[in-house]
Amino acid sequence: MTKSKRDISYLNILVVDDDAFMRDLVKMTLALFKPGLITLAPSGKEAIEILKQGDDNYHIIMLDLLMPDMDGIETLRHLSKLEYQGGLILFSGADSSVLRAAVNVARGRFLNVLGSIAKPVKAAALSHILEEYDFFLTRQPDTTQISTLSETEFSEGLSQGALTLYYQPQIDIKSGMVVGLEALARWKTTRHAILGPSAFMPLAESPAFIHQFAEQTLLLALDDISRWGKQARLLDVAVNISAAALDLIDLPEKIAYQCQAYGIESERLSIELTETMLDRDLVNSLEVLTRLRMRSIGLSLDDFGTGYSSLERLKSIPFDELKIDGSFVRGANTDPAACAIFESSVSLGKQLNLTIVAEGVETRDDWLRAAEFGCDIVQGYFAARPMPADQLDAWLNQWKGLSSLDL
Ligand code: C2E
Ligand code: MG
Ligand code: MG
Repeated sequence: MTKSKRDISYLNILVVDDDAFMRDLVKMTLALFKPGLITLAPSGKEAIEILKQGDDNYHIIMLDLLMPDMDGIETLRHLSKLEYQGGLILFSGADSSVLRAAVNVARGRFLNVLGSIAKPVKAAALSHILEEYDFFLTRQPDTTQISTLSETEFSEGLSQGALTLYYQPQIDIKSGMVVGLEALARWKTTRHAILGPSAFMPLAESPAFIHQFAEQTLLLALDDISRWGKQARLLDVAVNISAAALDLIDLPEKIAYQCQAYGIESERLSIELTETMLDRDLVNSLEVLTRLRMRSIGLSLDDFGTGYSSLERLKSIPFDELKIDGSFVRGANTDPAACAIFESSVSLGKQLNLTIVAEGVETRDDWLRAAEFGCDIVQGYFAARPMPADQLDAWLNQWKGLSSLDL
C-alpha cells in the first residue's frame, strides 16, 4: 500500500460524508498517512457548524458531493461565504464530468481545490494529493484576502498612496530570458496587509473611480520603471486597464505626455485589456485603442478563453498579443476540454500573427505543454510570483534563465 513519505502530522482534516460506512473507510485510509486530527461530519451543515465554532483549524476538508439536505455543491457556497482558506478534496461516486464541474464551481468561488477523487477513496489517490500539499502552499496568492474595501476607505486610500503595483516577470519560452513584466495592482492597508485586486476592483471599476484608477496605475508603473536599474528598464511593462476606462478619449495623449515626462519610450508599455464592457461605447473605445497602437503601445487581450474575451473582439481591435487564461493552462493537466481550448486558442492566435502568452504556468508540465503548443511567452508561479517593485532588480540579478531546452 502507498504511504506518504512526508510528515503530515500537522494537518487537521475534516471529512464530510452522509454515509457512515464511507466516513469510516475514508478515516481508515487517511489514518495510514498519520495526519493530525481527523474529524468526521455527517452533513454539510454540521461541517459548517464545526468550522464556525473555530475550535480547531482545518487545513483540509474532504467533501462528498451527493448528500441529502445540503449537498456538496451547496456546502461549497457556504465555505466560500466563510472565506475558507484551506484546501479541498472533492470526492464522489458520480460521473467524472460531475466531479470536474464541481471542481470548477469550487474554483469559481475562490476555494482552493487540491484534487478530486472518485469513490471508493483509495490510498494511492490520496497519497498523490497529500504529497502535493506543500506545493499547494506555494501556490497561495501573495496577498491576504480579507473583506473588500468600503468606498470611503478606497477613496481616501487612493489619494494617500495605498495603491501600489507588484510585478510578475514574463519569460521567453525559447531563450528563458525575461522579456517583460506585468504590473498587478495591490492595496496596502493601514495594518500593513497587502490586498489583491478582488478586494477593490469592483470599486476601481465603478464610474466614480474608473478613470482615476486607470491613470494612477499607469503613473505608478512609469514611476517604478524610472527608478529601476538598467536591466529592468529594458523590459516591456504591461499594465491592466479595464475596457470600460477606454472612453477617456485623450488617454493616448496623456500616456504619451507622461512617458515623455518620465523619459520612457512608449514602446516599452503595453496595455492588457481586462474586461467586458467594450461594446458599451465601441466607437470611442476603438478610437482610443487604435491611437494607442499608432503610438506603438502594445495591446494585449487578457484572459482569452473566458466568457469575457470574445472572438469578435479579436477581429475588430488591433491587438498584438493574446494571453491564454491560466485556468486553461493549469487545467490542461487534468481536463481534456481545457487542454483542447488551450491548444486551439494558441493556434488561432498564431494564425492572427499574435504573440501568445500562457498565464498561470505553475509547474514544469505546464511549461512544457505551453512550449509544445507553440506559446511564445510564459508567466506564472513556476518562474516567479508577483513581487514589489523594489525587489525586482535583485530578482533579475539572480535569474539564471530557464528554458524548455534545459528543463
Ligand atoms: P490577470 O491580469 O489575468 O493577472 C494574472 C493573475 O494571475 C494575477 O492575479 C496573478 O497574481 C495571478 N497569477 C500569476 N501567476 C499565477 C500562477 O502561476 N498561478 C495562479 N494560480 N495565479 C497566478 P491578481 O494579481 O490577483 O490579479 C487578478 C486580476 O485582477 C488580474 O488578472 C486583472 O484582471 C485584475 N487586475 C490586476 N491589477 C489590475 C489593474 O491595475 N487594473 C485592472 N483594471 N485590473 C487589474
Ligand atoms: Mg493581465
Ligand atoms: Mg489574465
